[in-house]
Amino acid sequence: MLDKIYFCPHSKAENCPCRKPEIGLILRAKDELNLDLSHSFFIGDSEIDIQTGACAGMKTILIESDLVPDAASLEIMPDFIVRDLLSAAEVILKQERGVK
Ligand SMILES: [Zn+2]
Repeated sequence: MLDKIYFCPHSKAENCPCRKPEIGLILRAKDELNLDLSHSFFIGDSEIDIQTGACAGMKTILIESDLVPDAASLEIMPDFIVRDLLSAAEVILKQERGVK
């Protein structure tokens, strides 16, 4: 279930605080939805997604894609690497159950 969808309507040139890797939208969601970011996951398929989640103090899940041909080359390693969204959901469920 989706509680809310956030998106940045600005161009890169506008240097807004909500365009990744800035975390403005995450902080807004944290306040509006009362999130505990240290127990939240940021899922994405690019290096900038992993940077964004890590900057916000979230756990990060990288979905394998052509955007990251070699995950080992990332500056910030994701907490988990999976092949698709379903696998990401399974990782989150396992974490919630305390299974490592
Ligand atoms: Zn923006």
